[in-house]
Amino acid sequence: MAEHPEGIVLTTVDSIFNSLRRNVGAPLVGMKPVRHAVNWARASALWPMTFGLACCAIEMIATGAGRFDIDRFGAGVFRPSPRQSDLIIVAGTVTLKMGPVVRRVYDQMPEPKWVIAMGACASTGGPFDSYSTMQGVDRTIPVDVYIPGCPPRPEALLYGLMCLQEIIMREAPAAYIFESGGTVHRRRHLEGDSDLGEVAPLDKEGLEVAAEAKA
Ligand code: SF4
Repeated sequence: MAEHPEGIVLTTVDSIFNSLRRNVGAPLVGMKPVRHAVNWARASALWPMTFGLACCAIEMIATGAGRFDIDRFGAGVFRPSPRQSDLIIVAGTVTLKMGPVVRRVYDQMPEPKWVIAMGACASTGGPFDSYSTMQGVDRTIPVDVYIPGCPPRPEALLYGLMCLQEIIMREAPAAYIFESGGTVHRRRHLEGDSDLGEVAPLDKEGLEVAAEAKA
């Protein structure tokens, strides 16, 4: 059976663009200055989702108010839709009934996206070792930063936010943009590091020191 000519043309164009993305785009975005610029832009303009589950949410709300002013960190634009958010702060107890809802909301967020588990409940189930409580939201979505406390104070949330910004500064943005087939493989480290936990200390300069030491 003969193939439709339009199909051949579209497939060829698609192949050319994929080749350009992989061979030109990915190395370009992976270059140090570009990588830093992309990561800096992402880390400096996080848009958290308006999402709270229990008492910890009150502390999260306080963090957005004038006394603590989360806007100083570029993360004060809380969005009412997951489609406009790139950060979900899971603030409160996650019940087993709520778990699938959290997962659905997370899936509706566009990549790149990050997760903060705020408080003992979101991190481990907290004081509720019961039949109805999920023992940590990482059983349903991947978590980037865990904040201990019951509840954590706004300062703790701000510190967790700064930790997340440091993680973002160390990411390889090409992994988000140029993976094929619409599948994004989250890459939490730059080339040469097999695991984020192996890199110490956790700061922007530390990564450069580690990379230079390996060279
Ligand atoms: S960690 Fe404590 S303050 Fe936060 S949701 Fe659980 S019980 Fe409430």
